[in-house]
Amino acid sequence: MPLLKKGNPLYGILHQKCPACHEGEFFKHKHGYRFKEIGDYPSHCAHCRQRLSIEPGFYFGAAYVSYALNVALMVSCAVAVYVLIPEPEAHHYLIAIFSMTALLFPGIFRFSRIIWATMFIPFGGENKQFKKD
Ligand SMILES: [Zn+2]
Repeated sequence: MPLLKKGNPLYGILHQKCPACHEGEFFKHKHGYRFKEIGDYPSHCAHCRQRLSIEPGFYFGAAYVSYALNVALMVSCAVAVYVLIPEPEAHHYLIAIFSMTALLFPGIFRFSRIIWATMFIPFGGENKQFKKD
């Protein structure tokens, strides 16, 4: 029995699937480190035809999610440095935080977009035509 089933919002977020059907791909490319195509997504889901941008500028709001994820990452890095390095100095914190933020930027960018979309596109789509299984 899988821990996360289709219909659970975390399933769509973790598998980067369409929030409406959890079948179609949310992004055009699986790989997040292609910087020219990092946020490219199709206009509609290939499986259920759900619009993935429900209004112009829809994904500007994903910046709020990105901010929250980055703050959580930075606090986690600071705690890790505090715990792992005896008597850490300021540059230890800065190196850890900036390197992890730069390294994980593509993932946070993509997760923030799909989390934002999942907040506003319900499972089943605008017509709620799918059932949870
Ligand atoms: Zn879909």
